[in-house]
Amino acid sequence: MAKILHRYYEIKDYKKTTSIVENAMKKARSVIPQGQVATYIPELGKVDSNQLGICIYPLTGKKVCLGDYDRRFTIQSISKVMMLVAALEICGKERVFELTGAEPSGEAFNSIVELDRENSKPYNPLINSGAIAICGMLTKEISFQDILRYTRKVCNDADIILNEEVYDSEIKTCSRNRSIAYLLESKNIINGDVDDILRFYTKCCSMSVTAESLATMARILCNDGVGEESTKRYMSASTARIVKTLMLTCGMYDGSGTFAINVGIPSKSGVGGGLMSVSDKRAGIGVFGPALDPKGNSIAGIQLLKEISNKLTLNLFYDPEWDEPQKESNFADQIMNHHFQSK
Ligand code: GLU
Repeated sequence: MAKILHRYYEIKDYKKTTSIVENAMKKARSVIPQGQVATYIPELGKVDSNQLGICIYPLTGKKVCLGDYDRRFTIQSISKVMMLVAALEICGKERVFELTGAEPSGEAFNSIVELDRENSKPYNPLINSGAIAICGMLTKEISFQDILRYTRKVCNDADIILNEEVYDSEIKTCSRNRSIAYLLESKNIINGDVDDILRFYTKCCSMSVTAESLATMARILCNDGVGEESTKRYMSASTARIVKTLMLTCGMYDGSGTFAINVGIPSKSGVGGGLMSVSDKRAGIGVFGPALDPKGNSIAGIQLLKEISNKLTLNLFYDPEWDEPQKESNFADQIMNHHFQSK
């Protein structure tokens, strides 16, 4: 029987934790004016950019939810995680990594340039080209309704629906994704009806979730595929591990490296303003903040995670001295001494 595998992280002092998160929210709100909601999907341009919410769902104990944690927004690229989980589970990792690589692209999320090189395949399954390739494989096996059902289950949220307005808005304007899909077809990476594949991909991106629903799925990933009730496995441990690893290296597009330094939590962003973060063996986190930075990631969401990740020991590379003023380093002296001594 599946079980909760790890119990060593627990939020013990709720009052203190809540006040740390509240302070972090204040700081994060101050960067909202530097960001902008996505407008290349016209319907997303109507969203109120001032919203901000977070849900932290630890492996053991109660959730901490603040701000707009229960507001609905479209999942957008975070659905690439659902697509990847489904592909790994249904088709297996050999087939998945025959189709796409597992390396950061260093390019924008909807980039086409690296794909146009000879013999190239999408860099990884968490950028548009990789996810559309994965969808080409998935549409032979399952329908959008299957993804929707699975998403409702892993998010423990029966109210997730297809946001028709956002879907219509994107499918009418997705020339870039269409170009990617045709390029993939020309390279034999997808075969099948390009329109069907694009509809499937865009519907997956248009599912409406909340920060709380994302935290619930993230918690399952944290727990190596096992759910809250500790009896049900939603994916294999190896799928969870591959997904988390790719989230760490590629989940924030060409901002993944800086994010890893500042936050250190495997995460996936979406242009709807969502962030799903997996503090492994500790907590699942969902964030919603629709104002985006130039790389298409939630500007206040990143700031918020940056503020709390180390303070709440959620950073994978937790350092008790990280938030303290930097001490003077005697590294150079040590190296010099070492150098002279060894001569
Ligand atoms: N549906 C969006 C697109 O394909 C998702 C992009 C994102 O969230 O980063 O452009």
